[in-house]
Amino acid sequence: MTKKIDVAEIFGSDVFDDATMKERLPKKIYKELKQTIAVGGELDSHVAEVVANAMKDWAIEKGATHYTHWFQPLTGITAEKHDAFITPTDDGGVILEFSGKELIKGEPDGSSFPSGGLRATFEARGYTAWDCTSPAFVHESPSGTSVLCIPTIFCSYTGEALDKKTPLLRSMEALNVQALRLIRAFGDTEAQRVTTSVGPEQEYFLVDKDTYNQREDLIFAGRTLFGAPAPKGQELDDHYFGSIKERVSAYMNDLNEELWKLGVTAKTQHNEVAPAQHELAPIYNTTNIATDHNQLVMETMKKVALRHNLVCLLHEKPFAGINGSGKHNNWSMSTDTGVNLLDPGTTPHQNKQFLLILSAILKAVDEYAPLLRESAANPGNDHRLGANEAPPAIISIFLGEQLEDVLNQLCEKGEATSSKMGGKLDVGVSTVPSFMKDATDRNRTSPFAFTGNKFEFRMVGSTASIADPNTVLNTIVAETLSQAADVLEASDDPIMAAHDLTKQWIGEHIRIIFNGNGYSDEWVEEAERRGLPNIKNMVDALECLTEENTIALFEKHKVMTRVELTSRQEVGYETYAKAINIEARTMIDMAKKQIVPAVIKYTTTVAQSVAAVKAVGADASVQEKSLAEISANLVALNEALAKLEAATNKAAAIEDPKAQAVAYRDEVFTAMADLRTPADALEMLVDKEVWPFPTYADLLFNV
Ligand code: ADP
Ligand code: MG
Repeated sequence: MTKKIDVAEIFGSDVFDDATMKERLPKKIYKELKQTIAVGGELDSHVAEVVANAMKDWAIEKGATHYTHWFQPLTGITAEKHDAFITPTDDGGVILEFSGKELIKGEPDGSSFPSGGLRATFEARGYTAWDCTSPAFVHESPSGTSVLCIPTIFCSYTGEALDKKTPLLRSMEALNVQALRLIRAFGDTEAQRVTTSVGPEQEYFLVDKDTYNQREDLIFAGRTLFGAPAPKGQELDDHYFGSIKERVSAYMNDLNEELWKLGVTAKTQHNEVAPAQHELAPIYNTTNIATDHNQLVMETMKKVALRHNLVCLLHEKPFAGINGSGKHNNWSMSTDTGVNLLDPGTTPHQNKQFLLILSAILKAVDEYAPLLRESAANPGNDHRLGANEAPPAIISIFLGEQLEDVLNQLCEKGEATSSKMGGKLDVGVSTVPSFMKDATDRNRTSPFAFTGNKFEFRMVGSTASIADPNTVLNTIVAETLSQAADVLEASDDPIMAAHDLTKQWIGEHIRIIFNGNGYSDEWVEEAERRGLPNIKNMVDALECLTEENTIALFEKHKVMTRVELTSRQEVGYETYAKAINIEARTMIDMAKKQIVPAVIKYTTTVAQSVAAVKAVGADASVQEKSLAEISANLVALNEALAKLEAATNKAAAIEDPKAQAVAYRDEVFTAMADLRTPADALEMLVDKEVWPFPTYADLLFNV
């Protein structure tokens, strides 16, 4: 029986959202809070007091006994520490209290979060501070009690950001300042704020929990480290957009319900390219809320899966030879008066403001390509980028026919006099048509594609927080917008100045535009000729974080300091080393304790069979050949195992974070591949019954 969900009724029911605040706060308080949310500024302590109390009453009605500051440390996931609302009274009882102070400030003992040396150099203290621009919500914890979650930032005693949220909020501020300057120069006197918006599409895999439980690699590393290909992969393309199976559909229904209650606008769901792979896209929101919501989406996906005896795999590359998962980060900017600054209108060639903003984005992406690449770097994504399934590791921009034509006119004739009408790009405004367009190969291969009224950054990994890529996007675009504003503000004829600057920037950065097949080898060569960077892995990508032009950029816009950037780089190296270390040790464990014993047992059986068959004078050549092949692979596996162990121990002993990351990449990671080859060969040679864990076929086709 289908469960009926009253979407309008449940939507946002677990959120202390605008409607709830309006209903529960005194008018004056509500107004002051709204003002702070809309234009920033410090919140009055009296206002905080009243809000805290209303929040507490509301949360208690929802069954909450605890509250938590909910923050996003550099682990990339969220953290919470629950405090009960109780305060003891003189007569030995308790009352439930929640003060403005507790709402605004927290001091979790977060000394175990990665800080890249920041904690050691400065203070062990860490503070969380309320981010009132993202609404509080009630979350059911695994134990069943509800917890009031207050989105916060997390910083050190001296104000350095220890999280992903602080730089993101600062970058939104920076973009707001510069974009406002620019639109003022174009004569907009009304807009008070420019906000960036994001709609992140989330890909994921679902596997059966019982099957999952039999694989150490999935449990420890989130991806398979061994596994021969299943007889069938994704070659028939019969899963992509295919009809959704009942078990998955039941999961999606539950997932949507949970997300809707949390105010997440989960909208689109479909099967993805790989078997067992799916996607969920919400309706876009302001960047900070979208970032929080994406964290909730990932958490809820995992939580709800367990209820269906499924496990949700968010890893970028759970299965070799099968498409991995990413996150398409749709990004745009709009004014508080409702103007999308990336909307070209029906005649883009006449839209001078749009063209200047577009050229500013081309310039930003071209000049800061390594930074954008870095923002999408994580150990899992190294398997995807440039592997013919996700965009290449080379950053380029896809604009589509219409805009490319306008830009060409500008470059060649100095003037754009027409816009191509109709055709594919005219779909701009509606979600559905652009969705269809995206499904074509040509568009899919671009890492940074214009899709009507937004850009889609497609490099982001599926496990990643979207805070980093959006911090970078906001900051690099703030920088080029500020340069544009400088020119326009200094000119007597800003419109003419805009025209000239647009032309100049397009000319200078035309190399970043590429509309061809990004998966092709020709593009790799062509990009090299154009001088576009091709940064192949996370370790190399981290390099740019501490380059002088990066530091200058982030410091100018007050998004991150030299110290914060350095700490992030160090955390990056450590994260990489730790991830590969876990994978290597898991492989060693599985090989030693599972694969080798199983194969030895099997060879014994085959050897006995050879002897028995020979004893009766029959032909045992098949058994002998099989035995020889298996034994040869077993020998190879054993050698590779020893090498991997040695390499891992050696890398683990290195102290310098960068040198260590390099060792894990160059020595350990390669040794892992060498171990996998004979292991996967063995899987194909031995009886399925004796193979110690479920195969790709078991994992990918049994849900
Ligand atoms: P596709 O698969 O073609 O990329 P989807 O509909 O799955 O399309 O996802 C498009 C995403 O872009 C949605 O999350 C949508 O809300 C988002 N989006 C639409 N307009 C904007 C905008 N102005 N700013 C940011 N994101 C947007
Ligand atoms: Mg997309």
